[in-house]
Amino acid sequence: MHRFLFEKFPVRGKLVHLDASWRAVLERHDYPPAVRAVLGEAMAATAMLAATLKFDGRLTLQMQGAGPLNLLLVQCSSELALRGLARWREDVPEGSLAQMTGGGRLSVTIEMSDERRYQGIVPLDGAGIAECLQAYFAQSEQMPTRLWLTADDQRAVGMMLQKLPAEHGGEEGDADGWPRVSMLAETLTDRELLNLEDETLLRRLFCEEDVRLFSGSPVSFRCSCTRDRVETVLKMLGREEVAGIIAEKGSVEVCCEFCNKPYSFDPIDVERLFLDKEAGLGTRTLH
Ligand SMILES: [Zn+2]
Repeated sequence: MHRFLFEKFPVRGKLVHLDASWRAVLERHDYPPAVRAVLGEAMAATAMLAATLKFDGRLTLQMQGAGPLNLLLVQCSSELALRGLARWREDVPEGSLAQMTGGGRLSVTIEMSDERRYQGIVPLDGAGIAECLQAYFAQSEQMPTRLWLTADDQRAVGMMLQKLPAEHGGEEGDADGWPRVSMLAETLTDRELLNLEDETLLRRLFCEEDVRLFSGSPVSFRCSCTRDRVETVLKMLGREEVAGIIAEKGSVEVCCEFCNKPYSFDPIDVERLFLDKEAGLGTRTLH
């Protein structure tokens, strides 16, 4: 993840290249090509949005629809630990996001470490995630934002431009700065975005502008699932339900949907789980 800044007017940008972190997602699930492309774009976008957080927290991008691609969920922490998944039914057509998801909605949720939470929702009626997110920024009256996103089976890549309020730096002088760089960025092709180094890409797009490129921060694939959390889910299901699974299958096998990590509970684990719960009621907390 690289940040960059235009020196002569208040516009900032981000470029993100997900390589190993994107392949880590692809290794865990066999996504059809159309789903893979959308998930990759969503991951690049989520990482860039999370990089704008000015506090410890987490940003979640979620798309839900009644169409063939019915759920897409990507989360990124302010430390840039990223995870994502998609659920689909039948054949997902290559087409606009509206066609793939059957309409529906896209939500952006920001959770802060002090438990404050903000959410914005826009309809999934754009051609792609970039358009929907641009609508989200416009609707939530945040700073004007443009996004360019693309993904293949090796990389998920994105660029974001944001027009800052004038007091955040830069000179007032160049009022055409924002429309000019937005227009220049429109010439960016998916191929260039996927293949060019950040420095080359910025030089090629904005050759007559003064752009400062900052040193990068790593983005990693990291899942926050734990055995404790899976146990909490089993406890919520209740003793009867879980005992039923044990009776039928001999053990309870749970797989994290994000990272595919398996969690296995044999009859003794399950007994202990509910003994703990009953013995522990009101006397101690589990964590
Ligand atoms: Zn996991």
